[in-house]
Amino acid sequence: MQNINSLRILWLLVGMMFSVPAFAEKLIVKDHVTLREGPSRSANILGYPVIGTVFDLLDDGQQVRGYFHVIGPDGRRGWVYHRYVRRETSDIEALATRPTTAVHFIDVDQGNAALIEFPCAAILIDAGGRGDIASDHLIAYLDAFFARRTDLGKRLATIFVTHTHVDHNSNLRRISERYKVGGYVHNGLLNGSGRVGANWMRDFTAAASPLLANLAVQNPMIEAAGNQGVANETIDAVKCANVDPGIRVLSGGFVDNPGWPDGEFDNGNNHSLVIRIDFGEASFLFTGDLEETAIETLIDRYAGTAMLDVDIYEVGHHGSHNGTTKPLLDAMTPEIAVISMGHEEPQLPWAAWAYGHPRRDVVTLLAAAVSRTRSPAVSVRVGDKVKRFFGFSLTRSIYATGWDGDVTVNADTQGIRSVKTGE
Ligand SMILES: [Zn+2]
Repeated sequence: MQNINSLRILWLLVGMMFSVPAFAEKLIVKDHVTLREGPSRSANILGYPVIGTVFDLLDDGQQVRGYFHVIGPDGRRGWVYHRYVRRETSDIEALATRPTTAVHFIDVDQGNAALIEFPCAAILIDAGGRGDIASDHLIAYLDAFFARRTDLGKRLATIFVTHTHVDHNSNLRRISERYKVGGYVHNGLLNGSGRVGANWMRDFTAAASPLLANLAVQNPMIEAAGNQGVANETIDAVKCANVDPGIRVLSGGFVDNPGWPDGEFDNGNNHSLVIRIDFGEASFLFTGDLEETAIETLIDRYAGTAMLDVDIYEVGHHGSHNGTTKPLLDAMTPEIAVISMGHEEPQLPWAAWAYGHPRRDVVTLLAAAVSRTRSPAVSVRVGDKVKRFFGFSLTRSIYATGWDGDVTVNADTQGIRSVKTGE
């Protein structure tokens, strides 16, 4: 009781201190931005403020067509587009009510299925998994999710499938028949191990009434977007009243060989969608099963931009030796990494054990790159080749569905809040 009373008093004091908010709102430039005379892309250019410039926010922070009215440290007034600036406030009530997001890395054994929960919507990246147990777990997880988030009306705004392999799309049909789906985004290739699901989904979207958005993201579309990634209304379909998450595809199916060896071009993994999500200051990157050759192409494309710089990295290709490179991690500077892979048991083909996932070399690279600590430290199992595993002591914020079960990363518009495991 005494503790509760002390807490109440503390809250009262905090309330008194902040009940008159010192509303000093700032905008900090986080990306290359143009300062313009008016709230329009055609307005005269006043300058190019460097990253880190701090503006004071004018007009109570009201946006006009996505632009903020600001005054700079040099006293100059102008307009900047919201995407390239970060809003900071000293109002404690605003901190307590910041919009939140959660990324649920669902344990589907050897495969991938990540549910991204927004304040007003949810999307799914991949609908895979190995076997009936994983499939039933995925459905049970989604059922429980929608039972909690009744406001979403059992609707996934978009399903992204990174590539047409069965460990990424085996549950497409089951999910699409059970829940409402707003759109389907994929890499346009139908010839992988997941072709049955991909073909079924193609017909399903075509027959849907009202018509279900079906978008193949391929290299010409990525090229046309310059080095910003593609973010059209099908890909970036979520906009909530209090936050507009940014969803963009940075790499897709390659129609022509970009100069890779033939074997690399024929490898469906290299055609994976790469998806970046921005939720205010929190950012997430999903690279599907992209392998080294395509990772190099990705890094080259976004060199000199902050497009690959994220807080949370879903580790490529289930922690395989070829799914993560040091240059990629250097571009990302991740705070947290999550691996979607199977458990060491069962010792069967098409299981993590048979692939030796995750690889010790990759977990070692991650441990050197991930900035947050994992506390308490845990002992996990990693492979150095197929079917051979070792103990590994983990002190960094690296999580894996094969070690931890379901992993949920909670964030708000200022960054990561917490990680929850083993539900
Ligand atoms: Zn895979």
